[in-house]
Amino acid sequence: MKKKTKLIHGGIFGDEHTGAVSVPIYQVSTYKQDGPGRPKGYEYSRTGNPTRHALEELIKDVEEGDRGFAFSSGMAAMSAIMMLFSQGDHILLTDDVYGGSFRLMTKVLNRFGLEATFIDTSNLGNIEKEIKGNTKALFLETPTNPLLKVTDIAGAASVAKQFGLLTIVDNTFSTPYWQNPLTLGADIVLHSATKFLGGHSDVVAGLAAVNDKIIGDKLHFIQNSTGGVLGPQDSWLLLRGMKTLGIRMEEHEQNTKEIVKFLERHKHVLKVYYPGLKHHPNHEIAKRQARGFGSMVSFDVGSEEKAEEVLRRLNYFTLAESLGAVESLISIPALMTHASIPAARRKELGITDGLIRLSVGIEDIEDLIGDLEQALKL
Ligand SMILES: *Cc1c(COP(=O)(O)O)cnc(C)c1O
Repeated sequence: MKKKTKLIHGGIFGDEHTGAVSVPIYQVSTYKQDGPGRPKGYEYSRTGNPTRHALEELIKDVEEGDRGFAFSSGMAAMSAIMMLFSQGDHILLTDDVYGGSFRLMTKVLNRFGLEATFIDTSNLGNIEKEIKGNTKALFLETPTNPLLKVTDIAGAASVAKQFGLLTIVDNTFSTPYWQNPLTLGADIVLHSATKFLGGHSDVVAGLAAVNDKIIGDKLHFIQNSTGGVLGPQDSWLLLRGMKTLGIRMEEHEQNTKEIVKFLERHKHVLKVYYPGLKHHPNHEIAKRQARGFGSMVSFDVGSEEKAEEVLRRLNYFTLAESLGAVESLISIPALMTHASIPAARRKELGITDGLIRLSVGIEDIEDLIGDLEQALKL
């Protein structure tokens, strides 16, 4: 099955009891048993729910794994994955991970004795140097937020394997439509499904998939024990959203290519960050490991004042955190998504005050370019 077909026919198609073509919302917490300890398949919805199960089967299939999981948010998915580790363990992470991932590791899980080191994984040579006796996992985000840095997943996973580490990939930006980390050697893939998978700015959710039975059993044990599961209504919204992921991603990317061309030529734009650009440092790796370059693009207009002026003038780019929706969204990372990262650290990473991040939507491209054109008349 190819990707768009799999998004529609993967997982569980419809409802075997009624013939309904879409999976119903099983709004239920508990299930009648045939006898004590003899459930028909479900016993309690924290442990398993048919609507959530259909979604878990779908993410498993589209990520080419053998088990899927749905959580109440991307951060709940990451928290559960981190609970696979124990006090005293050490995790290596990509240095410009999502701000909330950085916060989880440095303000919450550190208190439980989980150590974290943040390194530039886009340069594979940096990984081995930082592996210590207690290092248990390599956590990659690629492409990253907001500088669109790209890590060679297969290369990094092979270093991790040599040292017995698990490789975990946050695949939110690429989505399974463009990139499948499990097929590149990763052990766990996770998503903020709030973004492209949902796609309509109406649901907060997290998904994960694994391709190993032991890891799958452990993660299910944690999901059930800690309880950050996705409810049936939100599971259904994601099932609905994911059916159109393919056509949305194609359209998002088509628009992004045009916008990148426009920004590259613009005199007030100092720099454009996009993995599809030939001068992107890891363009060749992006081309090799992903089927598309995605629809996140960042550009620098030189100062916070200019960035704010551009924002004020735009009509079709909604000022909002989040990304991956049908509507175009815009943000200033230094003031918004990355505000929880200390200013000195932001500077080190290259997240300048004049940096603007676009999540390009699927509106008509003429309207989007026209809007940017008038907003950039600084
Ligand atoms: C939004 C986001 C998250 C967090 O997901 P939530 O659904 O907001 O909890 C994690 N990683 C990346 C790359 C994100 O963009």
